[in-house]
Amino acid sequence: MTLTLAARMGRIKPSPTTAASARASALIAQGQDILALTTGEPDFDTPSHIQEAALEAMRAGQTRYTAVDGTVALKTAIQAKFARENNLNYALNQIIAGTGAKQVIFNALMATIGAGDEVIIPTPSWVSYPDIVKLAGGTPVFVECPAADGFMPTAATLAPLITPRTKAIMLNAPGNPSGGLFSRDELQALGEMLADRPDILVITDDIYEHIRFTDAPFLTLAEVCPELKEQVLTVNGVSKSFAMTGWRIGYGAGPAPLIAAMKTLQGQSTTNPNAIAQAAAVAALNGPLDCVEMQRQAFQRRRDAAVAHLSKVEGLEVTSPQGAFYLFLGLHGVIGKTTPQGDTLHSDGDVVEYLLTQGGVALVAGAGFGLSPYMRLSFALADDALAEACLRIERALADLS
Ligand code: PLP
Repeated sequence: MTLTLAARMGRIKPSPTTAASARASALIAQGQDILALTTGEPDFDTPSHIQEAALEAMRAGQTRYTAVDGTVALKTAIQAKFARENNLNYALNQIIAGTGAKQVIFNALMATIGAGDEVIIPTPSWVSYPDIVKLAGGTPVFVECPAADGFMPTAATLAPLITPRTKAIMLNAPGNPSGGLFSRDELQALGEMLADRPDILVITDDIYEHIRFTDAPFLTLAEVCPELKEQVLTVNGVSKSFAMTGWRIGYGAGPAPLIAAMKTLQGQSTTNPNAIAQAAAVAALNGPLDCVEMQRQAFQRRRDAAVAHLSKVEGLEVTSPQGAFYLFLGLHGVIGKTTPQGDTLHSDGDVVEYLLTQGGVALVAGAGFGLSPYMRLSFALADDALAEACLRIERALADLS
C-alpha cells in the first residue's frame, strides 16, 4: 500500500520544543555529556497529597468513563478556583476540563476557526498555537513583540492587524517563552481595542499563572474587562503549577455555546480526560498551595542565578522574565561569528546546533517561537546543573571569533 496522508498533515510539523528535547535525549543515550535546557516542565515530583488522592480514587473504583467535560467534583473545584483566585464567576456549563490545556486550546480553535479565518498570534509564542490554527484551516497572523515591550503584545501592536476576517487572538501570560506579564492598564487597553469587535474570540492561556516573580497580583483579561467575558476563553491547568504535566489535566472557562461545542468535539475524539487524573486535579485545586510556593521559590532562585551569570556573557542579551521558567536570550551579538571549526553562525538554529554539538548544552532556537535571533533556555533543572549549563554556554560563546 502507498500511504497518502491527508492534505492537512502538510500544514503542520512536529513541535520544535519536543524535537529539541528528543534530539538532546538521543545524544545523551549515545553517551554524550549534554545538559538539556529544552524541557517545558517542572523538574519536581507531583506533591504527595495529590498522588494519594489518585490512589484513593483508583481504589474507590473511579476508573470508568466520566462526563465528557469532567466530573462535577472537578468542574466545581475549577469553578471555585476561578472565583477565589481570579474573581471570575462561571456556571458549570461555562467550564470544561480536557486532556491538558493543549487539548482545551485545540478544541476551542477547532470549534471556531475555518478556512479564511485569521488568528492573531503575538510572537514569540508557544510553538503549538500556529500549527493548531493551520490544522483548523485558518491563517495565523503573526506580530513580533520586541524585547523593549517585554516580548508582550500591546493594543498598539495588535490593533493594525485586526481585519474583518480576524476570528481570534491568542494571549499568553506569563508567556512561554517570554516570561512576560500584562499590567492592568495593558489589559484595559486591549479591552478598549476590542470594544467594537464582540465577534473576536480571545483565548488567554494562563497556564503559568502560579509561577511569577513579582509581588503584583496576577491579572487575566476576563477579570480586568468583565464586559468581554462573553468573548474570552480563559485557559489554565494543573501541569505547570502543580508539577503534573504527565497527568494531562487542563481546563477552560468561557461562553456556554463555545464550551458546548468544545464538549461535542471532545466527545467525538478523546471523551473525558483520565478519570484518576481528574481526582488528582481536584486535590490539587482544592488543596494547600505551599507546594506551589516551594516550587515558585526554586524557580525564582534559579532565574536570578541564570540571569546574573548570563548577563555577564558577551554577545547575549538577557531579559529577566517575570514568570514561567524560561529565559529568552537575544543572539544579535552572536550571529555572524565563527566557530573554532570554521563555521559561521548565520541563524539562531546555527547557534543552538553549535551549543549542542560543541558546548554540551541543548536549547531551543527562537525561530520555533516565531522570533529570531533568540534561543530559549528552560531553567527547570537542578541548581547545580543550571550553573554548569550557564558555564558551558559562557565558554562555548567565548570560543567564537
Ligand atoms: N500553554 C503553554 C504556553 C505551554 O507552555 C504549555 C506547555 O508547554 C501548554 C499550554 C500545555 O499545557 P498542558 O500540559 O496543560 O497541555
